[in-house]
Amino acid sequence: MTFIENLIRPSLLKIKPYSSARDEYKGSDGIFLDANENPFGELNRYPDPYQKKIKAELSKIKSISTDSIFIGNGSDEIIDLAFRIFCRPAKDKALTFSPTYGMYEVCSALNDAELLKIPLNNEFQIDLDKLDRYIHDSALKLIFICSPNNPTGNSIQGVEEVVRKFKGIVIIDEAYIDFSEQPSWTNRVLEFPNLIVTQTFSKAWGLAAARVGVAYAQPEIIAWFNKVKPPYNISQLNQTAALSALQNKNTIDEQILCIKSSRDQLINELKSVSRVKKIFPSDANFILVEFDDAEDVYKGLINKKVITRNRNSVIKNCVRITIGTPLENAKLISELKKM
Ligand SMILES: *Cc1c(COP(=O)(O)O)cnc(C)c1O
Repeated sequence: MTFIENLIRPSLLKIKPYSSARDEYKGSDGIFLDANENPFGELNRYPDPYQKKIKAELSKIKSISTDSIFIGNGSDEIIDLAFRIFCRPAKDKALTFSPTYGMYEVCSALNDAELLKIPLNNEFQIDLDKLDRYIHDSALKLIFICSPNNPTGNSIQGVEEVVRKFKGIVIIDEAYIDFSEQPSWTNRVLEFPNLIVTQTFSKAWGLAAARVGVAYAQPEIIAWFNKVKPPYNISQLNQTAALSALQNKNTIDEQILCIKSSRDQLINELKSVSRVKKIFPSDANFILVEFDDAEDVYKGLINKKVITRNRNSVIKNCVRITIGTPLENAKLISELKKM
């Protein structure tokens, strides 16, 4: 058995994936009488189950081969599939570092896998000594590292040590990598057989409504994702939206630059807001801010129709603020200054 076969759920080893009409005939022209589609209309045909056009574009941008790329219905589908591939329900476990993105917990509960949570330290970094206590548990199959981390905004250090030490799968969630100066781990998936990097079209690429997420890993892992995914997991509408964003990469790059400079400006302006106690460093398109009374600031902003994310229940007195347009950011600052 290969390294990966030893990690996946034994019941999957003999799975026979659903074979769709598009799996059996891969050509693109001809008279298609194979999938019970209506022959009339615009969206009448099933979409490409492997999203080859999107992968071809991503392959160029990321300098990675198409068989190292998987497209999910949002990265949330990828997180869920990872549990289904690697964790035996009621037996296996996953681990993450809190506070972090809530979907790891939701997906672990859905798949009946325990989620171990190690608190990040005061600087919101991984405490590697604490991790050592868990890492040799043979039921531990997945470690999720969100970097830059949501909701704290910082990039996580020590990732390489985790990837090297842990003999299960490490998933690095890079939903916010486009706003960061740190290099992406996509460049290193060929170095580590246990590494999965996820990214998304929902943040920098401006396509949250389209639900398109991406996983990068060695081809053997990607093949397992392809085996267990729903056959047509990305609709034609969503594939078209992602392709058009990829073809307009220059516009997206400009937007990212604008968001990053707005972030720096917003951080500066927040420094002169009296109710602000601390501004945490951010490599993302949001800023975590500690106020004198988060609950009160949050409600005050809501009354002015400025909606932020109250994170008080997770990090005392903290509010997560997404970078908006320059006008929206100005409105936020002016309301905060009036409070
Ligand atoms: C927003 C976000 C995602 C995106 O999920 P999609 O399903 O791709 O929209 C993934 N991970 C983190 C940490 C996020 O904050």
